[in-house]
Amino acid sequence: MPRKAHSAEIDEFTTVAGYARSAINLLSELRIPPTPSRFTVAYTHQTGNNSDLSLAMNRLLGHDKLTAEAVDELFNQYFGRMIEEAELRDASQRIERTVSEVADCIGAASDSAEHYGGVLENFADGAPSDSFSEMIGAVLDETRQMAAANRKFEERLQFSSTEIEILRQNLERLEREASLDALTGIANRKRFDQALRESMARANGDGTPLTLLMMDIDHFKNFNDSHGHLVGDQVLKLVARYVTDGVRTQDVAARYGGEEFVVILPQTDMDGGLRVADAIRRSVASKKVVNRRTGTSLGQVALSVGVALYRRGESAAELVHRADEALYLAKAGGRNRVVSEAELPDAV
Ligand code: GH3
Ligand code: MG
Ligand code: MG
Repeated sequence: MPRKAHSAEIDEFTTVAGYARSAINLLSELRIPPTPSRFTVAYTHQTGNNSDLSLAMNRLLGHDKLTAEAVDELFNQYFGRMIEEAELRDASQRIERTVSEVADCIGAASDSAEHYGGVLENFADGAPSDSFSEMIGAVLDETRQMAAANRKFEERLQFSSTEIEILRQNLERLEREASLDALTGIANRKRFDQALRESMARANGDGTPLTLLMMDIDHFKNFNDSHGHLVGDQVLKLVARYVTDGVRTQDVAARYGGEEFVVILPQTDMDGGLRVADAIRRSVASKKVVNRRTGTSLGQVALSVGVALYRRGESAAELVHRADEALYLAKAGGRNRVVSEAELPDAV
């Protein structure tokens, strides 16, 4: 048996070292400094254990856009959550501790009530020789102690229920934040991945159409270069608002990453999807961006959009890929436009 365990260890070593080497090689080829967080992303991609992450990596690789910045963003999207999860674990441990302290308090209070009951019984059975005032004194003493214990118990309970309320609010906040993009406040990539799977399952179940829009701000790098990253961030917030305003409540608008947005349109066919996409594109292109601080006009921003219709039984990756290809066609065709997957060269 030891030989077998030994060979399993060698297997594990070979596999893990292989992933680690490929991860380093991948980062080195792209001249991305392999910091621990970037290595984590590359390593996880090599293992194939996280299909959403690998889809994102392959997509960036396919478009020559796997930069250090992009890998850092993927780390935040897929591993930033680990920190929140640790916070959640900590909060639930604190709730457990508080509840067990309350249980201890209740136990102590019931012990002291039992003791008090015992004293009263002794009082009733008191021998005639006991002086009456001594007996009254003993009962008064016990009553005071009992009242003090009850007050402490009440204070402790009050403190615990406040503590539990704070913890409950913290948990609610963490849950909310875990699905939202920190900058724009709309759904994040993680929420999108989950919502897309749910929408696909529903479309599979009831046969209703489902359309996906993939949007990317045009020449956003130039915008950042001319006006600075902070102004760029404000524009991202603005575009997020126009995208959200342009969809119904049952639709999911999310920040896919960087300056890219996605919209899931349930119960919507290709024509409907193209209409929604063009309305959003027009609403963004028609606005002048104004620097609120200085009042100066910063010109206009535009969006390119790719639209794909879900095909029953296909994977999320396939659907996203087609929307993405259509988006790149929109870019190649001059930007500030909407392109359907039907226009793809190998469309079927
Ligand atoms: P294209 O029309 O081909 O999409 O050109 P582009 O310049 O928009 O595309 P590219 O992918 O070359 O650059 C994307 C830019 O988006 C570069 C990056 O600085 C900017 N960007 C990505 N995320 C953020 C962000 O969170 N804030 C700001 N201000 N800029 C961002
Ligand atoms: Mg982009
Ligand atoms: Mg862009």
